[in-house]
Amino acid sequence: MQNHDYDLFVIGAGSGGVRAARMAAGFGARVAVAEDRYMGGTCVNVGCVPKKLYVYASEFGKAFKDARNFGWNSGNPPFDWATLRDNKKTEISRLNAIYDKLLAGVQADVINGRARIVDAHTVAVGEQRYTAGKILIATGGWPHIPEFPGSEHAISSNEVFDLERFPQRLAIVGGGYIAVEFAGIFNGLGAQVTQLYRGPLFLRGFDADIRAHAAQEIRKTGVDLRFEVNVESIATASGGLQVELTDGTAIEVDTVLYATGRKANLQGLGLESVNVKLREDGTIDVDDDYRTSEPSIFALGDVTGGMELTPVALAEGMSFARRQFGGLENTVDYDFIPTAVFCQPNIGTVGFTEEEARARFGRIRLFKSTFKPMKHTISGRDEKTFMKLIVDQASDRVVGVHMMGPDAGEIMQGIAIAMRAGATKAAFDSTIGIHPTAAEEFVTMREPWSED
Ligand code: FAD
Ligand code: NDP
Repeated sequence: MQNHDYDLFVIGAGSGGVRAARMAAGFGARVAVAEDRYMGGTCVNVGCVPKKLYVYASEFGKAFKDARNFGWNSGNPPFDWATLRDNKKTEISRLNAIYDKLLAGVQADVINGRARIVDAHTVAVGEQRYTAGKILIATGGWPHIPEFPGSEHAISSNEVFDLERFPQRLAIVGGGYIAVEFAGIFNGLGAQVTQLYRGPLFLRGFDADIRAHAAQEIRKTGVDLRFEVNVESIATASGGLQVELTDGTAIEVDTVLYATGRKANLQGLGLESVNVKLREDGTIDVDDDYRTSEPSIFALGDVTGGMELTPVALAEGMSFARRQFGGLENTVDYDFIPTAVFCQPNIGTVGFTEEEARARFGRIRLFKSTFKPMKHTISGRDEKTFMKLIVDQASDRVVGVHMMGPDAGEIMQGIAIAMRAGATKAAFDSTIGIHPTAAEEFVTMREPWSED
């Protein structure tokens, strides 16, 4: 190992790469990290962080309206896009600097530039070559926009945060996390939003009840949500963009945002010069140690597919460093990973959907509750919370929890701990609630909605 410039060369300073680099350096490894775009990767720059800041911004409009019946005559203050965008930029620059500092603090070398693998132990950044005992690919994903007539007019989540002008009329294509979250953001900020999804019901992979409830609630907020429709072409028009749809209709908008999934970011990485096998979907194939088919090259995070979530990339980065440089046993347990969609209201979910639970456990009990949040009894806002518990009949274990309602993401984190600890429905029932909260409903649902 000492013959190499570094023990570990990490490509990509995103969630997974930085965590692996910091931990490996903490174990005494000589580490370099190459980054060609921005410190902190997708999450910090064009993902979770700016997204959540924009979600906060988008909630004020409704809050001003809600406030009236509580006695606050707040009026309807105008929204200024440039203020939000530029304050977001300042905050992200602060975070970029923190990431730099974190790596400097553990004496890891940060190399600015695009890295290319030359051979199993060599990486080039520009003209400079570096050798390493182990190479870690943590290059994440990149938005995928399908090709069709006029697709060059569409933007992706990479561009949407920094638009020069606020899009008063926005079309969003897709029915996954990003499409749903940005429909909520721009609708909340005052844009006229049309969301187009190609299938019969969006949010594929989520519990069917949540998907139906989300469609109902999102439509109530004013998003023009259309299913079974796709874009045929986009052309410039005098007032903006003319979008022809597969159902024969057309819409005119200022901006078209494509949120149709992300692909592994492998462009120019030099994988052709080593024996790193890819899966059919273009992600890197790795074993349980995150080792690729080239023994000295590892990969983790979004570039390997799976659940494309920051905490998953972080966990994989830690596990990799502990095992490869700390001499510790550490595997990531992918069961019961909680997740949230930051639409309005939020979706929070952990464990199996009803369909999956039925297939896996056979006999299940379901508990469901739909109610108006207490706040809206006075605000007058027409919004309903939905909660669902799925219980395995044989063991009484709670195996799926799903919610759409205010703070569902916050609530689901605690529920996930209980589920990983094997909590039964009896344990939920014997837990005293916190009153008055929406979350207490999870420990007071007694009557099964259905029992197999
Ligand atoms: P990344 O964070 O993508 O980092 C990869 C880094 O590698 C990048 O900085 C890139 O510039 C760099 N790179 C690539 N190729 C090279 C090269 N050849 N040389 C040098 N550098 C290179 N997840 C959540 O958990 N919660 C959320 O709320 C959430 N919101 C999201 C919102 C959006 C709009 C998007 C797009 C994603 C969101 N995600 C969210 C997903 C999350 O951002 C990713 O799962 C996470 O960033 C993956 O981390 P990573 O380390 O695998 O890759
Ligand atoms: P998703 O995979 O979640 O959704 C992609 C959507 O685009 C699906 O509805 C899919 O439809 C649709 N689609 C795919 N191809 C086409 C096409 N050619 N034409 C029309 N529609 C198409 O990807 P996102 O881009 O929304 O997000 C990427 C990932 O980032 C997420 O999967 C998630 O892991 C992560 N993320 C996490 C967030 C969070 O934790 N809150 C927030 C944002 C992103 P279909 O279902 O029919 O295949």
